Amino acid sequence: MTTALPNCIAGNFQPARTGETLDNVSSVTGGVLCTIPRSDARDVADAAEAAKAAREGEWARWSVGQRADLLDAVADIIESRLEEIAAIESRDTGKPFRLAATVDIPRAVANFRFFASAVRQHHDGFHEMADAINYTLRRPIGTVGLITPWNLPLYLLSWKTAPELAMGNTIVAKPSEITPMSATVLAEILHEVGLPPGVFNLVHGLGHEAGQAIVEHPDIGAISFTGGTSTGAIVGRTASERFKKVSLELGGKNATVVFDDCDVEKAVEGAVRAGFANQGQVCLCGSRVLVQEGIYDRFKAAFVERVSNMSVGDPADPDTSLGALISHGHREKVEAFVALAKEEGGTIETGGTRPQLGAPLDAGAFLRPTVISGLNTSSRTATEEIFGPVVTIHPFKDEADAVRIANCVEYGLAASVWTQNLGRAHRVSAALDVGMVWVNTWLMRDLRVPFGGVKASGVGREGGHHSLEFFSEPKNVCIKL
Ligand code: NDP
Repeated sequence: MTTALPNCIAGNFQPARTGETLDNVSSVTGGVLCTIPRSDARDVADAAEAAKAAREGEWARWSVGQRADLLDAVADIIESRLEEIAAIESRDTGKPFRLAATVDIPRAVANFRFFASAVRQHHDGFHEMADAINYTLRRPIGTVGLITPWNLPLYLLSWKTAPELAMGNTIVAKPSEITPMSATVLAEILHEVGLPPGVFNLVHGLGHEAGQAIVEHPDIGAISFTGGTSTGAIVGRTASERFKKVSLELGGKNATVVFDDCDVEKAVEGAVRAGFANQGQVCLCGSRVLVQEGIYDRFKAAFVERVSNMSVGDPADPDTSLGALISHGHREKVEAFVALAKEEGGTIETGGTRPQLGAPLDAGAFLRPTVISGLNTSSRTATEEIFGPVVTIHPFKDEADAVRIANCVEYGLAASVWTQNLGRAHRVSAALDVGMVWVNTWLMRDLRVPFGGVKASGVGREGGHHSLEFFSEPKNVCIKL
């Protein structure tokens, strides 16, 4: 029998008001994994009401220390169930189990531990004048709406939930309807560790129904959204019309910039990881590899060879490098970009086709990792977000050329720069129009640093004190002496 996942509202695990459900289909086998409630504005209103009641109840009296201890307890439980939750995440997303068990779930644990510690250390401003003193209080916003995408479901939900609870808010969360399972596990764990009912409410459903209702609800004071740029524009518009605080972490078309003075072997390895982690479905993925002319041919040959040897297949197999894409529809979108690349004059160096994996995996949304050369750097394939296992590779002349190409897209999330010249590393990092630059590495994360992008990649920063500040309101008190 198919499991029916519930919403969690006011501590009750319950179906949608309509009684309707949506199928959650496996992108690995095509079978139905579970159903979720198809919630609408009435469920969101129930959740917002529960969240309001909770913020006026015992939760308001919890000390910072109590909230931090609760976050640590959540981390402990996720850690103790790591393999089980990683298996759930892998089944729900199609990503390799090994990736979920070494990245997604450990990072969810780290998020809860980090924000438990960060909020214990957090302090606010004090400013002395000749005849007055100012001190700044930080207060919860009230209820915050958390809207998260399908690529890193628990990782991104925990990234928002932990600081949000640390600062004493209540939550109405909506995960992507195609990856609902780990959010339900988190709701159960929060219940288990004794979070008061109504502090964390989970509403499953469709973006334009449940998601939109969260952004519109008058009692939800802020929205933290991670997702696509076009959805972000709708969310941003709806929230700002209602004067809500909003954080938007959106798409990317990130450059991996490889100079001829780099350690080529390490750069190839880094570019492969940046290009294809999670089947290329990470907003930070380096989907454009820019290589300096002097090493272009050598680098390309080594890169293509490495990519063509990556194993695609059963996400449960520990040797699998790439699992299934998130859905069959998404694979078709990615394949349409491969076809477009050919029309635009690109050469498919490797990949671009579906692997033959045998039953039952032949029913899955698998695609071989793809490298495309010969495209104009301003072509659609080289500038639009594909969000799949497709990387374009381009030569450049010098630093100025590299920066010009890297900056020529509408996005500005992240970049990686590969060079052994320290001066060049600083110059290029400073010149790139992005929110985050890695030099000689990719996706190395210190949870204290600002995370977010510029241009069409988003508005605002999360991470460390940026998250604690986003999820609270400062109130200055000035006392005349
Ligand atoms: P979407 O923008 O389609 O969806 C994100 C979330 O928003 C989902 O929960 C979705 O629900 C919901 N949603 C959709 N429409 C609305 C609406 N009108 N109001 C409120 N919520 C709505 O993104 P994807 O899930 O497809 O995720 C992929 C995208 O996320 C990529 O573009 C990627 O770059 C970006 N991303 C950015 C990151 C960053 O930190 N910058 C990190 C990870 C991903 P539903 O699923 O039901 O449509």
